[in-house]
Amino acid sequence: MTNLLVMKFGGTSMGSAERIKVAAQICREQKERRPVVAVVSAMSQVTDLLLNTLRHAEAGDEAGIETNLERLSQRHLETCDALLSGDLHDTTTSGIRELVADFRRIAHGMLMLGERPPRSVDEAVAIGERLSALLISAYLQSTGVPAQDVNGSDVIVTDAVFGNATPMMDETRKKADQILRPLLERGVIPVVTGFNGATIDGRATTLGRGGSDYSASILAAVLNASELWIWTDVDGIMSADPRLVPDARVLDTVTYSEAAELAYNGAKVLHPRTLAPLIERQIPVWSKNSFHLEHPGTRIVSKMEAPPGPRAVTSMTNVALISMEPASSAVSSSRLMSRALEALADANAEVLAFTSSSYRQSFCFLVRKEELGAAMKSLESDLALELTHGYLKPIEVDENVGLLAIVGEGMRGTPGLAGRIFSAISQKDVNIIAIAQGSSELTISVVVHRDGLERAIQAVHRECR
Ligand code: ASP
Ligand code: MG
Repeated sequence: MTNLLVMKFGGTSMGSAERIKVAAQICREQKERRPVVAVVSAMSQVTDLLLNTLRHAEAGDEAGIETNLERLSQRHLETCDALLSGDLHDTTTSGIRELVADFRRIAHGMLMLGERPPRSVDEAVAIGERLSALLISAYLQSTGVPAQDVNGSDVIVTDAVFGNATPMMDETRKKADQILRPLLERGVIPVVTGFNGATIDGRATTLGRGGSDYSASILAAVLNASELWIWTDVDGIMSADPRLVPDARVLDTVTYSEAAELAYNGAKVLHPRTLAPLIERQIPVWSKNSFHLEHPGTRIVSKMEAPPGPRAVTSMTNVALISMEPASSAVSSSRLMSRALEALADANAEVLAFTSSSYRQSFCFLVRKEELGAAMKSLESDLALELTHGYLKPIEVDENVGLLAIVGEGMRGTPGLAGRIFSAISQKDVNIIAIAQGSSELTISVVVHRDGLERAIQAVHRECR
């Protein structure tokens, strides 16, 4: 099948009856030209509501569960009333009630246990996507467009890392051929739930928060789609966050590497792992705004003629810097570094940036604040001997920092660029705490004091083109 288009609709693009109508209209228009697979997120804020309900369950708060479930049913039933009538309305209404009942059953299990087992969380939380897939597929049918909701856990096969699973592409391809291809051949739009999958033996998993983008790219890859369109509520990938930089602009084309670097460094527009499955077949991606249809969006491609210098800047604020220094030169700092990195890996803490100085043998790494507690616990226990015997100075933590990442294909081999970036930052009286540049030379990461972050971003953005 040539020409297949995979389209993913995010939570805001599915956020109300009115938005679902727009999404359905987009599907209908594209379907007139080529086969379409739709991948949908839960309606906006529904995943948060579901996760919050499960926390109430764990805490033994039955009333809290019921209040949330009332909101959940009401939102979907009202949307159903606004979209549908007659038989389709009635079957969809009972479908919604059944899914909410499934969720209630799992939440009550957790209430009894006083616990939230990760695999049950994954099973429960995917119900947000199942509800939205049900609504839009019924609405498409009501407008004469053949559509079928499909549970992502029947198609996407993953490992067993609940909450952050990784797809098994060959197994997923087989399932997609069995389940999605026959629908496409009959001219039906499969509406697949984003975010969820299942292990080979059928245990429910999810791909991490914001994972519907990733679901869509996995399906685009295994079905060998000609394009992937990701519908959101922003005009595309921007040169900076427009709330911080008023003259930030939409980039018309970026490469997979640029988009991935931006996503990993805090840009919210794409789930960081989205692009990886597409690289092999070089499937182009469009990031588009379903609230702004006349805007073309950003095209993400494998290669482009890049202008010299940086193209975009992004930032992260919920980060902390951990610094370590051997107490004497008799201690091998390489060994300390390797022990420290191992301790971080054991704690499942991702190192966002790492730098070291050879003279003082000190080194530091940046981690997410939410992973700081576990990271410190693991470091302090793995390095307890070194700390008590005075081989290692006390570990220092600075939570008052921010990370700034400057990204661009054209940064490779552009001499003098780092100097320009650093002087732009220091002219704003912002102190640079640490600097890291990966060997790809695509990104320079700079750690600064939190209160200088916005000024640094604005200064660096002036260097972007
Ligand atoms: N609904 C899920 C979340 O909020 C997945 C997604 O929207 O991409 O994380
Ligand atoms: Mg998203």
